[in-house]
Amino acid sequence: MAKRDYYEILGITRNASEVEIKKSYRRLAMKYHPDRNTGDRRAEAEEKFKEVKEAYEVLSDNRKRAAYDQFGHAGVDSSMGGGAAGPGFSGSSFSDIFGDVFGDIFGGGRGGGAGRPARGADLRYTLEVTLEEAAFGTTAKIQIPTLVNCTRCGGSGAKPGTHPRTCPTCNGVGQVAMQRGFFAIQQTCPQCHGRGTIIEEPCPACHGQGKVQQEKTLSVKVPAGVDTGDRIRLSGEGEAGEMGGPSGDLYVQIQVKPHEIFTREEANLFCDVPIPFTTASLGGELEVPTLDAKVTLKIPAGTQTGKMFRLRGKGIKPVRGGSQGDLICRVVVETPVNLTEEQKELLRRFEETLEGGGKRHSPNSHSWLDGVKSFLDKMGI
Ligand SMILES: [Zn+2]
Ligand SMILES: [Zn+2]
Repeated sequence: MAKRDYYEILGITRNASEVEIKKSYRRLAMKYHPDRNTGDRRAEAEEKFKEVKEAYEVLSDNRKRAAYDQFGHAGVDSSMGGGAAGPGFSGSSFSDIFGDVFGDIFGGGRGGGAGRPARGADLRYTLEVTLEEAAFGTTAKIQIPTLVNCTRCGGSGAKPGTHPRTCPTCNGVGQVAMQRGFFAIQQTCPQCHGRGTIIEEPCPACHGQGKVQQEKTLSVKVPAGVDTGDRIRLSGEGEAGEMGGPSGDLYVQIQVKPHEIFTREEANLFCDVPIPFTTASLGGELEVPTLDAKVTLKIPAGTQTGKMFRLRGKGIKPVRGGSQGDLICRVVVETPVNLTEEQKELLRRFEETLEGGGKRHSPNSHSWLDGVKSFLDKMGI
């Protein structure tokens, strides 16, 4: 039995657009659906349904359709990768193709593809803040370049009052078949560049793109306690969607600038505090900064370099909750420089008094020297 022409099966012309093909298929699939055809009509309906499905599978696939247009049934036989060479039919397979064709109208969220609404792209923006802003929160104004739907043409790209029309070269498929010797080669349509539609009079505002780039200024609320790597999502502030699809989101990524005094580790702040060797020896008080105030740090007599002092609750309150961190000050004893003759003399006299005291005044140095001595004795040096 000779195969019927696919266009004839679907009752459409050879110039039918993708939309028309789909529409016709929906109508016929409903008509020949096995559940709607019972009794002696059922066998015939199943046969028809098979035919309709096969025709649709070829004509809805740009590559197969072009091959069919050029070579007829031979072009889409099993050599084309199956599908068109008599797909099996059973009651259960109906739900699959039903989902495929009808999914979009039932909000199946298939997205993408030419001519379908698609969500706009998400955008990312890196926002630099100071440590103080990160700790206490701030409101930042940011300017982002974004593609928005052209208001002049409503996103169609066509001059107001005109409409894009189906490309006559490829009939809306976006591809054309070219004969090269024995081979048929699929190429992107040279007239519409694969869009399937052409715009005869482009919108003067967007030059036919349907979108224009715009700087938009947004106010970003940065909550207290954020840290580098945290993201703030601004819903719907990304790129505009395609064909009326929803806009994407904007992700503002926080980058905390280095601070001249403090370093941060999660909720805790750290800083090095240089102190004069006299204060380290005699003890005393020292003013140290926190992020928003000054506090007094008590230095006990005999404090050595590396000693840590923890100021509770002077760190950062984390944005995700939890207790406020601490400020940890590490003491660095400073050796005095650029001494006058008088100061040097005082230190020499001071040094003599130390020598008389033995291990009492410099226990670390003495225990280290003792350790070195016993090590050298053991090695016989
Ligand atoms: Zn426009
Ligand atoms: Zn075209």
